[in-house]
Amino acid sequence: MEPPAAANFPMDLRTFIHALPKTETHLHVEGALPYELLTAWDPRRYPLDPPFRRASYRYRTFPDFEQILLSNALPWFTTAERYYEAAKVMFTQHVAQNVRYVETSFHLPVTKFIGVPGPEIIAALRAAAPRGLEVRIFTGMLRTDLAGDLRPTIDELHTWTDLAGVDLHGYEQMPTDPSTAAVWARLRAAGKVTKCHAGEFDGAARVREAVELLGVNRVQHGVRAVEDPAVMRLAADQGVTFDVCPISNVRLQVVPDFAAHPIRRLMEAGIRCTVSTDDPLCFANTVVEEYETLARELAFTRTELAQVARNGWEVASVAPPARQAAIEEINRLAGS
Ligand SMILES: [Zn+2]
Repeated sequence: MEPPAAANFPMDLRTFIHALPKTETHLHVEGALPYELLTAWDPRRYPLDPPFRRASYRYRTFPDFEQILLSNALPWFTTAERYYEAAKVMFTQHVAQNVRYVETSFHLPVTKFIGVPGPEIIAALRAAAPRGLEVRIFTGMLRTDLAGDLRPTIDELHTWTDLAGVDLHGYEQMPTDPSTAAVWARLRAAGKVTKCHAGEFDGAARVREAVELLGVNRVQHGVRAVEDPAVMRLAADQGVTFDVCPISNVRLQVVPDFAAHPIRRLMEAGIRCTVSTDDPLCFANTVVEEYETLARELAFTRTELAQVARNGWEVASVAPPARQAAIEEINRLAGS
């Protein structure tokens, strides 16, 4: 029997969002530690429902956020096995939401603190990937790490064959080390994808710096590009993708509320935007909730939600037939 045509049985919005084949392309491994693992490990230290995981909680400053993130995540991530255990749960939750492609970044300085080489962490994370989920592993570092004792490790990243790419994390107001551009160019030449956090806690000029100086076409956040039309034009003309995290932006007070979030303006300016959760350990958010929030708070239509999902596949590092199949599936769901 033929399945009924979708148009005759319009799905409710929740079903539609679930059915979209989704990607997540801005996710920090340590910031994605499933909180329930902490509670199960030590319920007295990690009570259920701590205040910082409530939807009403706002982080006052980036250092406040970082302190909560690190004090919760670092006690857990002491071995490659712990990365495996966390990723196993995290990726299972992706599959349950019909997320089929994930780019996730572990923090390179942690490899130094715990004395575990990066390639062992990459292997642990890859081993945790379930069937039906394509996983790409990135590593990220602080803007100042290139000048420190991580430099020899950074200089060998091109030899880590299962490393998909690199990212600059952390406090954006730090100056970018002048040697970053050459390192990023060398890693791109070795086939690695290069990203940079910019336009979150600092303004549009940092997005320009990421694109023009570092040569990246993947900006993590990027939302404050909206402050400068010339930077929006630059990002659109260069085909830069912004991996946007609306719930993170509200919880960290990058924007005062969802109504003020610039994602639609960025998309209307021709910038390819995706949505991700950033640090669900700290925000208790999911990819599905990011889509639901766009629909509820910003009145995103199904056509717009489908465009967000399609954007994720356009930028995903997958073979062309897989990309095409996902996009066609989205088009069918959206009736386009
Ligand atoms: Zn981030």
